[in-house]
Amino acid sequence: VKIRMVAAAALVGASALGAGGIARPSLVPTARFDVVVVDAGHGGEDDGARGAAGLLEKDVALDVAARLAQQLKARGLTVVMTRSSDRFVSLQERTAIANRARADLFISVHANASKYHKARGIETFFASAEASDDAAHELAAAENLAFGEAAARLASGDPLLAILGDMIVTEHLEDSQEFARIAQARIGKTGAARSRGVKQAPFVVLMGVNMPAVLVELGFLTNVKDEKTLRSAQERDRLAAGLARAVDVFRARQDARQGPRVEAGEAGG
Ligand SMILES: [Zn+2]
Repeated sequence: VKIRMVAAAALVGASALGAGGIARPSLVPTARFDVVVVDAGHGGEDDGARGAAGLLEKDVALDVAARLAQQLKARGLTVVMTRSSDRFVSLQERTAIANRARADLFISVHANASKYHKARGIETFFASAEASDDAAHELAAAENLAFGEAAARLASGDPLLAILGDMIVTEHLEDSQEFARIAQARIGKTGAARSRGVKQAPFVVLMGVNMPAVLVELGFLTNVKDEKTLRSAQERDRLAAGLARAVDVFRARQDARQGPRVEAGEAGG
């Protein structure tokens, strides 16, 4: 019998506190893996990165996210998109949508940028207070800044949020890392794009969701070849199909680990 501790209960405060003020986890019987949140980065007045030939990150992200959502729905999964049109969605809105959906997985779709125009390829990130390297640290800072100065400061500034974010990230760390590995293997090794591997960095959008979560950077818009590749519908389909196959593998793993289904009444508290 697998009982899931809802760390998000800590975020709402009093209801998670038992006698004596000691945090007491809410016990909720876990459902089968059936809900995925697909988060298209940026949108509206926030273009995200821009390629030399004018391709916008917000447009690539939304298109690949929509293709991925379609593939996942075709598999019978429930898919929740944080945006399905060209509009700005705040950090709070994105994380609230995901947490309300009690999703089993959160996939944030982005495209990369670098001052080094030769940099190219695909990276998959999971959240961690410590970044893999300086480039990962700079990338997370830039992506966080899209949500405003306040959000950008959360990753390094607010001690309370750092603790809560850390709790959530830690609870799902192994799963997030595992899905990142599976996803990167599926999207990074075929086609024209090059794999840059799995990395970690403090992305605030990943730190606010109470579920396994990754952020994929589909390629560098600041690289001429990557920008051209990302314009093609074929490449976008390849990326969406690769991510969907990664979800298949992860879903089977999660369901196998859960064991037999339990009636709600047996779970107790
Ligand atoms: Zn982005």
